[in-house]
Amino acid sequence: ATPTALLVGTGRGAQLGIVIKGPEVLEATRDVDVVLLDKTGTVTEGRMTVVSVVPAAGVDEGELVRYAGAAEAGSSHPVAQAVAAHARDAGPLPDVTALREPAGQGVVAEVVGVGTVVVGRADLLSAEGLTVDAGLAAAFTTEQEQGRTVVLVGWSGQARGLVAVADTVRPSSAEAVRRLVALGLRPVLLTGDTARTAATVANEVGIDEVVADVRPEGKVDAVRRLQAEGRRVAMVGDGVNDAAALAQADLGIAMGTGTDAAIEAADLTLVRGDLLQAADAVRLARATLRTIR
Ligand code: ADP
Ligand code: MG
Repeated sequence: ATPTALLVGTGRGAQLGIVIKGPEVLEATRDVDVVLLDKTGTVTEGRMTVVSVVPAAGVDEGELVRYAGAAEAGSSHPVAQAVAAHARDAGPLPDVTALREPAGQGVVAEVVGVGTVVVGRADLLSAEGLTVDAGLAAAFTTEQEQGRTVVLVGWSGQARGLVAVADTVRPSSAEAVRRLVALGLRPVLLTGDTARTAATVANEVGIDEVVADVRPEGKVDAVRRLQAEGRRVAMVGDGVNDAAALAQADLGIAMGTGTDAAIEAADLTLVRGDLLQAADAVRLARATLRTIR
């Protein structure tokens, strides 16, 4: 490979809105055969809004929203921002004196007036010793079947309700998946969200394979497992929780609309945050390296 041709390739990438960290990245780009796609913020817009609030029996909805919003106000997670914004719309939020945020799980906050409030995945609530009644569990399933991300909210030993947030699939995601498949890549949806919610999104964009319910370190494991099978793995992501997997992948691709942590860890950045550019990058790498040989 002549350095000049590689530089031309990276220059052409820049024109296409693809920032390539170094000329050597083109080789990895050409060779990938599996592409892991993060769900939230990558396949979807990552702009979430609250679409439903379900209090458990005997719980006041306003109180549920206020406590959930106060707890989430200190987190930058897209789910948290949606919940906090929704709560602020209804009025001022109580103060929080301490906050823990187990990555990819939710938040545990000390909220003035109520005590410890937990917002997040079902397994976080159970780890914090909160129980979930059957009625609430059923409502949780119903919301997930609509592709929504659902978090439980609890305090004083029990889950007190749920908040469901909706995100929209990016308009180009389905076409991008088709093009990646046409280039011979096997697409896999990778997410910390639940299998039920992930399946709805996967279905919408034409992905058959889903790895769900993973913690950030689980995303790294998913990359490693495929590498151990001899696959050359591309990973596309946007979040802080994707950074380690982006670094582990043979080709890390960051959405330009994503976090600095993801962009720093990646080999390639899609400036416009458009997944179609991932297919462009593979085509460009193949064309560039073909010219050289
Ligand atoms: P993804 O892989 O889709 O980007 P994350 O790993 O960031 O998702 O989060 C996984 C799940 O953990 C979310 O779907 C949500 O249920 C829960 N979660 C993470 N952070 C928070 C938070 N701050 N508040 C509530 N729930 C959260
Ligand atoms: Mg994400």
